[in-house]
Amino acid sequence: MVDTTSDGTSPKGQQSSCGIVELVDRLSPHQFREWYQNRKWRKNIEEGQAYFNGPGSVPAPERHSPSQLLQCHRKLVYRQENAPAEQPDPRGIFWFGTRFEEDLLFPFLNRAVTESDMYVQNSIWIDFTVQSDEGELRIKGATDPVIVDSAATPILPTEVKTKSSVDNISEPNRHHRAQVHAYLVGLSEKFDRDFTDAVLVYGGRESLELKTFHVEFDAEFWDEVVVDWAGQHTQYRADGELPPADPEYDWECRFCSYRTRCGKGDANHRDMEPSGLLAGYGGYPRDAVVEYLEGNTNESLTPTLAKKFPELAEEYGVVNWYCQCCSSDIGWDEAEPEGSPICPRCADRDEISSLSLAREEL
Ligand code: SF4
Ligand SMILES: [Zn+2]
Repeated sequence: MVDTTSDGTSPKGQQSSCGIVELVDRLSPHQFREWYQNRKWRKNIEEGQAYFNGPGSVPAPERHSPSQLLQCHRKLVYRQENAPAEQPDPRGIFWFGTRFEEDLLFPFLNRAVTESDMYVQNSIWIDFTVQSDEGELRIKGATDPVIVDSAATPILPTEVKTKSSVDNISEPNRHHRAQVHAYLVGLSEKFDRDFTDAVLVYGGRESLELKTFHVEFDAEFWDEVVVDWAGQHTQYRADGELPPADPEYDWECRFCSYRTRCGKGDANHRDMEPSGLLAGYGGYPRDAVVEYLEGNTNESLTPTLAKKFPELAEEYGVVNWYCQCCSSDIGWDEAEPEGSPICPRCADRDEISSLSLAREEL
């Protein structure tokens, strides 16, 4: 038997089984999540980006980000208006993307320019306006690494994307070409000269293989496809209109975080507005529910989510049921949220009435 001191630890040089159990507990998924969240919060403050820590703000309709050009209008409206996400934030993929760019691509580019009078700059901020049929649009964002001359004037911007595999990539995706075009236009305006060439780099997460594509500026593609798309998107936002469910590529729906809200998930919901947690839908990740309720303090959990995350019910409250038949409010925990919940008061009188949430139906 191992001697332990009063605080449960072993004498010097020995480790009690209790200490090991505690240590293993400190390595739990819950502890990791908490540690990671705190670290991210602290990092944002340290990097002067504390605004990432609160609930997301809603960008102005005329504002565009290069990385979002040509994506499904409806998906973007949901994202920009902070609709609750139905899938976890793919932060592992973002994390890998950053590491790939900083730890591998940056040194690789540096090697490519050694012994020349060229350098690699991490990123260049662009912020410019373009005229569209719907008025002036503003495009803001930061490039990926740019090869520059000794006066730090750009020579060749790059855009780096990571994919699980690059085997099947035979040409750049149009979204990525649009993004690179925005960088070329922004850099041309910023440095008052015409930049027409860029490189799109795809990196494979599994095999660490690369594929690179030389992209040349195509004025017709920029004016007639990209700027038109951005003008149309601004119009949807300004009109408060839900855009059609019509992405350029079908795969967008497969990876979309708003499939159920849009109508591609289950039969109960279709063409829903961006706000509100969907009634009867329990697929939201916990973090997305918390983030949504923190940003919408007048809203509460649905009974379905209260059942899934009981620890959140007290903090955020739960929407009750309402029976239109007997005009009664029914407590959220007085009916089973699955399927079509039935009014217990009507049931006592041998009547079957469906309950809805005691708020605007979603
Ligand atoms: S499910 Fe498809 S159509 Fe609907 S918002 Fe998402 S990407 Fe767009
Ligand atoms: Zn009733």
